[in-house]
This record gives sequence, C-alpha cells and structure tokens, in this order.
Amino acid sequence: MKCPKCSSRNIRVLESRSAEAGQSVRRRRECMECKFRFTTYERIEFVPIMTIKREGSQESFDRNKILKGVMRACEKTDVSVKAMEALVEGLEETLQLADKQEITTREIGEMVLQRLQDLREVAYVRFASVYRQFRGVRDFMDELGTLVDNKDAIASEHNLETSNVDGDSAPSSSDRASVSI
Ligand SMILES: [Zn+2]
Repeated sequence: MKCPKCSSRNIRVLESRSAEAGQSVRRRRECMECKFRFTTYERIEFVPIMTIKREGSQESFDRNKILKGVMRACEKTDVSVKAMEALVEGLEETLQLADKQEITTREIGEMVLQRLQDLREVAYVRFASVYRQFRGVRDFMDELGTLVDNKDAIASEHNLETSNVDGDSAPSSSDRASVSI
C-alpha cells in the first residue's frame, strides 16, 4: 500500500472496523511521511461485473468512477459523502446479488438516477440533466469519466439546470465544458 499523496510505503493503520453490513473491513490509515490520512476497504471479491459500453466494448465495473460522478452531481447539495458511498455500494451489491455479470452503461446510469431521486431532488436534477444531454450522443459513462478527469475545465462552471437539458442535440466542446455534475 502506497500513500496516494507522496507514494511512501510507510503507512500505519489508525482504526479498523466492520463496514457494509459486515461485508468489508474499513481501515483508516495515515502516511508516516506526509501525515496524509485516507481510508481503505477490504472486501470479498465477487465475480467481476463487466460494463458494456454503447459501442459494444467492455470494461470492468468501476465503482470509483461511478462514485466520482455521483459526487459531482451532489456538489453544493447537502447529500453527505456517506450517503453517496452507500448509494454506490447499494448499486454494486444489487448487481452482485442478482448475479449479474454484464451490465450496460445505460443501465448503470438509470440505476444511479433512481437512487439519486431517493436521496435528494437537486442532485437528481443535475445528474439527470447531464445524462439526458449525452444520451444518444456518446456513451454516458465515457462522458462521466471525461468530466471526472477534466476537473479543471468544469470547476469554475455552474448553471447546469438552465443550459442544454433537452435531448439529442450534439453538444459542442464548449457546451460540454459548461456542464458541471
Ligand atoms: Zn504520504
């Protein structure tokens, strides 16, 4: 295990406890070099779920990617990080328990929307706006990944609700830069 900040391997565990209804162990860790604190989860390895993208290519299901998208959608709302993590955990658990080994990115998007709707209306509207804008244009999760990777471009932008929420018109790159999820 390396420190995510300084890559030191000199890490100590501050606290360990059971999480996710006993399905995992959560450990709070601290880097002895730079004092950065972070959390790791040790969990049962289930059969990997493959995500099928719009154009048919596959990649393994990436819970962190989905969590980042949810976090963006919930920015400036009062949805707690805990609730967001629980949302993604619930989604993954649903897939595991259904023994579903393949899922399309579109299905994932719909599942996230359903769960966000249960959480908070504002987050739902933001996520749904982005989702609707890109649906039929490009693979939704690809866009999500791009937005997450491209934090600087979207960090200063707002007002998603008032721009480009309708349907299938292909967003230009400048339109895309105005979307904040
Ligand atoms: Zn460090």
